[in-house]
Amino acid sequence: MPINPWIAKAVVLAGAVVMIAIRAPHGRRSRSAKVATNRKTSLEIGLLAFAWVGFFIPLVWVATPVFGFAEYPLRIGPLVAGVMCLAIGLWLFYRSHADLGTNWSVTLEIREQHQLVTNGIYRRIRHPMYSAMLLYAIGQALAIPNWVAAPSNLIAFAILIALRLRHEERMMVDQFGGEYAAYAARTKRLVPGIW
Ligand code: SAH
Repeated sequence: MPINPWIAKAVVLAGAVVMIAIRAPHGRRSRSAKVATNRKTSLEIGLLAFAWVGFFIPLVWVATPVFGFAEYPLRIGPLVAGVMCLAIGLWLFYRSHADLGTNWSVTLEIREQHQLVTNGIYRRIRHPMYSAMLLYAIGQALAIPNWVAAPSNLIAFAILIALRLRHEERMMVDQFGGEYAAYAARTKRLVPGIW
């Protein structure tokens, strides 16, 4: 039985509000921790812009009828699975921000007094915040009954992560040397025990 798409709209809006609320205090705090090394290349700037577009398209779908041509019926199974992915993704997003603290940046940079974090959720995987963003995007892909808005975040985050990971890990090795290499040797990147 098809479900009213407004339920998915409420879910997507609530998820985005929670995500912004988790990040906001870190964004404010990170501005006070001085940057020592910046690797914000033009690729990074392009990827960030792309990620913002991917993040906003579902919100445009919530607020306007512009993607009405791409709508399909919403089913209970994908909606429930989507809500679960969104909830787990947001929990992981919260945990990884809490563990990373002032070492967090929206882009590739090292702060003055940057500390390598290997505890908390970082004990299990090296990029829990990216895993969180992927889970969140998979949640949207499942819950949104629209061919444009459903995959937009997933495509943008997947490209951001795929093209950024190598540069981020190289930056961390340049900064922390053997300590990061040893950390990388005992952890997986995004999925515990798998990759
Ligand atoms: N890739 C991590 C962090 C994303 S935020 C994750 O997905 O959880 C990106 C910034 O985090 C990078 O610019 C880098 O400065 C910092 N960073 C990444 N891994 C870190 C770690 N293990 N300890 C401390 N800082 C880290």
